[in-house]
Amino acid sequence: MDWLQEKLEIIKSRNLYRRAASYHAISSTRVENSGRTFCLFASNDYLGMTHDPVVQQAAMQAAKLYGTGAGGARLTTGTYPLLEQLEKELAIFKETQASLLFNTGYMANIGVISSLAGPEDVIFSDQLNHASIIDGCRLSRAKTVIYRHKDMEDLYRLLKDTPCTGNRFIITDGVFSMDGDIAPLNYIVDLAQSCGAIVMVDDAHATGVLGAGGKGSASYFGLTGQVHIQIGTLSKAFGAEGGFVAGSSLLIEYIKNTARSFIFSTAPAPAAMGGALAALRRLVAEPQLVERLFANAKYVREGLREAGVPIDTGTTPIIPIMIGEAEKAVWLMNKLKSSGIIVTAIRPPSVPDGTSRLRLTVSAVHERNQLSKAVESIKAAYRKMNK
Ligand SMILES: *Cc1c(COP(=O)(O)O)cnc(C)c1O
Repeated sequence: MDWLQEKLEIIKSRNLYRRAASYHAISSTRVENSGRTFCLFASNDYLGMTHDPVVQQAAMQAAKLYGTGAGGARLTTGTYPLLEQLEKELAIFKETQASLLFNTGYMANIGVISSLAGPEDVIFSDQLNHASIIDGCRLSRAKTVIYRHKDMEDLYRLLKDTPCTGNRFIITDGVFSMDGDIAPLNYIVDLAQSCGAIVMVDDAHATGVLGAGGKGSASYFGLTGQVHIQIGTLSKAFGAEGGFVAGSSLLIEYIKNTARSFIFSTAPAPAAMGGALAALRRLVAEPQLVERLFANAKYVREGLREAGVPIDTGTTPIIPIMIGEAEKAVWLMNKLKSSGIIVTAIRPPSVPDGTSRLRLTVSAVHERNQLSKAVESIKAAYRKMNK
């Protein structure tokens, strides 16, 4: 299979070769490698839940009570009470009738989309939607129509001009994973209502982040109840692993009986579910965590903007620094690493060609001195790059 080597060489020659860096986590914002410590600005652990002592204790307790693995798929092996409790509390949090857990957000998206949409349906999908949405659309065999990123006139035109004998779906990220901008859900819901389309929002980066208490983008726009399908992940703000869908009891019952990534996969591991439940309860008890997250994001965004670093006008904790060429983005990433800061260069295929960037993520538990050091280092490295 020499062609594999040839293909890898092509990837390398384009500066698109990727290798996972290996770090030992000391806390949710500090990592260690070969005796050096770094400050981490590349994690989606927005609320610092991964290293919260209560959350960790709950994860260990769940493994002790229910075992290290679930042992089988839920419909064949059965379930353990923690899963049902978490689903109940996620539904309350999302203000929906019910929810259903999957092993990851990726599996939730491919399972839900392929369960609901089929060849006679049309899916309208934002150009910058996450890969798991794209794969879900492919699996569903529905006709998929891509609209320009957040472009409501384009969506309107496509909804009007695309013939459809089945159902129409509009699917969008709530907060876009690589750009950190917010989908215009208010306009999307209006357009959907005018033609009877079903709205699905993927709140992987909005759950625990957007809206009062981090309830997500439907709540942020005051549209709870008008968004039919809400996807979430437990692997970002909840600091664990797992995905979920929230919506009406009817929707959840149907998905439970038809989504193949739910039916044919072993249930999520107890430790992850125990940790996620404790994280959810902590967020509900302490909604001001979300305010701290946004205050930290604001501090970094303003600092960078004042220094002339090109960032957009957004507000979320995902802060893309647009660079363009993959080679330059990698140079900047390495430069920052040498000053003790981990940020990730995001390159194709994660983003379109020519839009390579540094993607900085801020957490509620970053301390002020960590934030100011990051701003100063980025400022200096960015100036150097442009010399
Ligand atoms: C991260 C992410 C997912 C996948 O979630 P996992 O739980 O990590 O599999 C899905 N959709 C979006 C928008 C994401 O950012």
